[in-house]
Amino acid sequence: MEVKTSLLDNMIGVGDMVLLEPLSEDSFIDNLRKRFDHNEIYTYIGSVVISINPYRSLPIYTPDKVEEYRNRNFYELSPHIYALADEAYRSLRDQDKDQCILITGESGAGKTEASKLVMSYVAAVCGKGQEVNKVKEQLLQSNPVLEAFGNAKTVRNDNSSRFGKYMDIEFDFKGDPLGGVISNYLLEKSRVVKQPRGERNFHVFYQLLSGASDDTLKKLKLERDFSKYNYLSLDSAAVNGLDDAANFRTVRNAMQIVGFMEDEMQSVLELVAAVLKLGNIEFKPESRCNGTDESREMCELLGIEQSVLERAFSYRTVEAKMEKVSTTLNVSQAYYARDALAKNLYSRLFSWLVTRINESIKAKTRHKVMGVLDIYGFEIFEDNSFEQFIINYCNEKLQQIFIELTLREEQEEYVREGIEWTNIEYFNNAVICDLIENNQNGILAMLDEECLRPGTVTDETFLDKLNTVCAEHQHFESRLSKNSKFLTDHSLPHNCFRIQHYAGKVLYRVEGFMDKNNDLLYRDLSQAMYKANHSLIKQLFPEGNPAKVNLKRPPTAGFQFRASVGTQKSLPHFHRLFWSVIKRVPGLMETEGERAGYAFRQTYEPCLERYKMLCKRTWPHWRGPAREGVEVLMTDLQVPPEEFSYGRSKIFIRNPRTLFFLEERRKQ
Ligand code: ATP
Ligand code: MG
Repeated sequence: MEVKTSLLDNMIGVGDMVLLEPLSEDSFIDNLRKRFDHNEIYTYIGSVVISINPYRSLPIYTPDKVEEYRNRNFYELSPHIYALADEAYRSLRDQDKDQCILITGESGAGKTEASKLVMSYVAAVCGKGQEVNKVKEQLLQSNPVLEAFGNAKTVRNDNSSRFGKYMDIEFDFKGDPLGGVISNYLLEKSRVVKQPRGERNFHVFYQLLSGASDDTLKKLKLERDFSKYNYLSLDSAAVNGLDDAANFRTVRNAMQIVGFMEDEMQSVLELVAAVLKLGNIEFKPESRCNGTDESREMCELLGIEQSVLERAFSYRTVEAKMEKVSTTLNVSQAYYARDALAKNLYSRLFSWLVTRINESIKAKTRHKVMGVLDIYGFEIFEDNSFEQFIINYCNEKLQQIFIELTLREEQEEYVREGIEWTNIEYFNNAVICDLIENNQNGILAMLDEECLRPGTVTDETFLDKLNTVCAEHQHFESRLSKNSKFLTDHSLPHNCFRIQHYAGKVLYRVEGFMDKNNDLLYRDLSQAMYKANHSLIKQLFPEGNPAKVNLKRPPTAGFQFRASVGTQKSLPHFHRLFWSVIKRVPGLMETEGERAGYAFRQTYEPCLERYKMLCKRTWPHWRGPAREGVEVLMTDLQVPPEEFSYGRSKIFIRNPRTLFFLEERRKQ
């Protein structure tokens, strides 16, 4: 048989890993490398796209490329994120199916860029018109706003997402966008007051100081010089290739497009300025912070009486049922209170921004949605703390959804269809998720328990508990291998625990776990904020309303996070990314798969309908079961038997070439 090929003969390496033979870790990596060396950064594994960050701009995102991928079959052109976006969009528009694109990978892999490419592709191919264009613009412009407030330079990535984001784009029945809804997961707020070496605070601080006019800065009582502010790290304030001043204008412009009013923008900037001012408030044993310029200016910005703020930094009031007890804060407690206020102020401002953006972009009705999930990538540092623990747990959860929906479903389908297939023993990370999130003896539950336990509780008592409970389980349940993910060995430093994550072993230092989980803000401070003559800040601290004193403890950071990541409902349309130096491809490669899979499958009826014209015996009508019709068709067309398999309800086609051959024949 002559198989007509279009672009495929020029394909570098193998475009779809499913066709790789033999499939082994080495061949997989070699194939990726070969393609990458020829600037082919995208490769498929079935309907999953892998991409490798090129770290330079390639001419593959032009309007011409958009046109090229528009309305084409997923396997027709060389692998591209546009092909995935197109496929997802067409399934939504033509088959009325909700879509979800999950993007995973280490920090710096290119997830956020990918999510924006998907959005801009969809914006380019869907309907036009004044209303629709406005919606598109607003959806796209929500990105620079959230990135300014939620991204920062880290050692891995100059624009690292420090929050998780799930965005639903809402469409009408024609496939035109109507609006969107954004959900955010736990912002890494500790960054507001302290950054690891070589990293920066959130972009917006530098953008404001570099890009605002003299007049604006004067109104905000700020100076242009980064070094004046304790909360801004000095060693890495200017980042190569990052134009903070220009970005400030982009963000302001984006806020306007999204629909922020001038006075709202002003309020937001006042809060950003207030955080910088807070960082400069100092406490001394003899005079406390009384009367300093910084606290006066901060109070002026937020419309708070200075004596109210200063009192809140001096005392802590604990209210029990009938009584109120005030204790004086010592200097280090005052600093603790200050930083807690800064972190809370900023992270609440961030959540408010998300809510405010949603108010603007949310559609009144919706027919179908396309969800795009872009989270903070997996992080393994030398020194990992609560933040990494939360970020990595989030990645672990996502990996679990990925495994559930792709590998398992794929294999189950082969079994269901009676297709011969060597089972891949995939790395199931459900046990790691369970180790972290189990309600009874999961790490987060134990942390919460320790935070609530009366008496002297410290990070060390938490670690002791963890070690005891996990070691016990290790002993009794080793068969389930659950706790073998909690690694204990003698090389472990005394203040650390280690987890075998899907992406590698990570050593966590417990220092600060209790505190960060507690996320304690003294009530005196929320009450002081509530008294502010500033509508935004008042809104951000509703619990400061004395009429609504709630004696219950607010939920811990870990608890909130567990609840928010637990509710991801979605359909499979995966986009998976890897960081450019691939050492190991987790999950998929723990095996020596022998048999290559099938790139394409279709139930018999539509297959027969589409190709029956190619064969005299099936055209125009085939009277008999569709499967037999397809068999006749394939025999007649002399498609080599190793190229396909008959399943119970579907035909499985190994190589896209066969598909092109059929498609080409139809056109003749
Ligand atoms: P994090 O988990 O830290 O948020 P991330 O996976 O979201 O990381 P990105 O911010 O998307 O990573 O990408 C990091 C940088 O890599 C980008 O700022 C950009 O410079 C570069 N990059 C990413 N994708 C591409 C691409 N397709 N082409 C060229 N450069 C890219
Ligand atoms: Mg990102």
